Amino acid sequence: MLNGERYARQTVLGAIGSAGQRTLAESDVLVVGCGALGSAQAEFLARAGIGRLILADRDILEPHNLQSQLLYDEKDVRERLPKAEAAARRLRAVNSSIKIESVITDVTAANIRELAGRADLLLDGTDNFETRYLLNDAAVSSGKPWVYGGVLGSDGMVLAVHPGRGPCLRCLFEDPPEMGLLPTCNTFGVLNTAVAWVAALQVTEALKLLLGAETAEFKFHTLDIWRGTVNAVAAERRAGCVCCGERRFDFLDSKRGSSSSAVFCGRNAVQVTPERRIAPDFARLRERLTPLGTVTFNGVVLEFTSGAHRLVVFPDGRVLVNGTMDTAEARSLVAKYIGS
Ligand SMILES: [Zn+2]
Repeated sequence: MLNGERYARQTVLGAIGSAGQRTLAESDVLVVGCGALGSAQAEFLARAGIGRLILADRDILEPHNLQSQLLYDEKDVRERLPKAEAAARRLRAVNSSIKIESVITDVTAANIRELAGRADLLLDGTDNFETRYLLNDAAVSSGKPWVYGGVLGSDGMVLAVHPGRGPCLRCLFEDPPEMGLLPTCNTFGVLNTAVAWVAALQVTEALKLLLGAETAEFKFHTLDIWRGTVNAVAAERRAGCVCCGERRFDFLDSKRGSSSSAVFCGRNAVQVTPERRIAPDFARLRERLTPLGTVTFNGVVLEFTSGAHRLVVFPDGRVLVNGTMDTAEARSLVAKYIGS
């Protein structure tokens, strides 16, 4: 398909034009998280003709994802595809003229610099504050723009961060909320229309940043799609901000990301990350586990079910242990069945 024809309804817009379209075609965007927000962002970006998308996500698809993640279908869930892989496959069919890379990994302090280094802009498609503060550090330290977005119930928030020009996330909220105190989409629920609205606003801000559109003031957007309210307040840099002022990158410099385990909030699952991220030998693992339970392998991830526990082994060596929230139990199951 001729690209002139493909983007005709977009290049005719005064805010974009042919020159803007060429800029988008030369842009690289990293989407961190391919769940509700991230998968919607990735689709908007692919259809808008962003030249290269890097889609990073740590998880596989589950049935409850289909309610708010418009990019995926029942076949993807049946095949237990990792979200980053399912998103890349679908979007390559949507737009074959752009480059789409899927990265099946947990984005942590150990790999964010490398991932961010390959992009012009970072988009927040995550569902947790730990990763968002890490993204803020990575963006501010490298001088790259990023767009924060969050959604819960029918509420959403969006902030575009352009380091050096406007406020960063820590100018507005110095520290992340305490773990466990905030409701999550798992416990509180989420309206799929609110997801689409927040993702649309995030991608619009991203396009403006990529096109160098004049932003007179940076705004912190809050919205509630059920009540039909939108609010935007001018946000300013805070003198003495530890991140963009003092250039202290607490989250980037943390030691997390080596060997660790983390409870997946509200999911009854624990992720166990090995110190050395090497691809498991799936063929041998399958052979060894078959007598001990049910094993399936879809070419990307291996699943092993024994009793109440289901272990998902990813290509980067991580194991998601479903059926427990006890990190010690999860680690011992990984040691017992997968080895370390
Ligand atoms: Zn700041």
